[in-house]
Amino acid sequence: MTDPRRRALVLFSGGQDSATCLAWALERFDYVETVGFDYGQRHLVEMACRQRVLELIPAIKPEWRRRLGPDHVSDLTALHAASPSALTRNTEISAPAGGLPTTFVPGRNLVFLTFAAIMASQHALGRLVGGMCETDYSGYPDCRDDTIKAMQLALNLGMNQRFVIETPLMWLDKAASWHLAATLGGPALLELIRVETHTCYHGDRSHLHDWGYGCGRCPACTLRMSGWNTYSAALATAAP
Ligand code: ZN
Repeated sequence: MTDPRRRALVLFSGGQDSATCLAWALERFDYVETVGFDYGQRHLVEMACRQRVLELIPAIKPEWRRRLGPDHVSDLTALHAASPSALTRNTEISAPAGGLPTTFVPGRNLVFLTFAAIMASQHALGRLVGGMCETDYSGYPDCRDDTIKAMQLALNLGMNQRFVIETPLMWLDKAASWHLAATLGGPALLELIRVETHTCYHGDRSHLHDWGYGCGRCPACTLRMSGWNTYSAALATAAP
């Protein structure tokens, strides 16, 4: 079996960020598995999108087809029961000044990383890859670089492992994430991410914009749209 350091588990939700991370991992490692979490999120449409991306992404490069291993879906609906977040209940999505957005699910990434690490230890996968990002994040404290580094330490101590948690998007803004996707997989990956990944908090798959499907008004859509616009504007300026 290949060195565990060449084998990765990608936390893959079906959104733009984790799809970019999946391409990043397929480009970099010899073998890649994916895991998704069903935690009662109200944009369950993400779970359908992730299947489409997993079906289509191997066609982009022959080595990606060779490297992509099985997908896993883990049932974490207990999070839904425990958390009053707007992501898991039908309450208003807002970001009060000085407070955490109502979409915050306390400790969500800590739980995800713990489950991912348990799975990775079973399958000898030495790298955990996640789309956490501190640059234009929504204020979630469990997306911060310090949190991820602390989790890596805790998981390695508590499980006697040598995991490395990779967060390729940590210091990128959304425009830079689009650029990274273009670098990794060219126009085919860009189009796959644009059309098949999902970001909208309201689960809107009926309106296709330049930047993908969504309501165009929720905080997730607004962030994705402004990143796409910045990326496209930079491309137009660079064109001869
Ligand atoms: Zn939206």
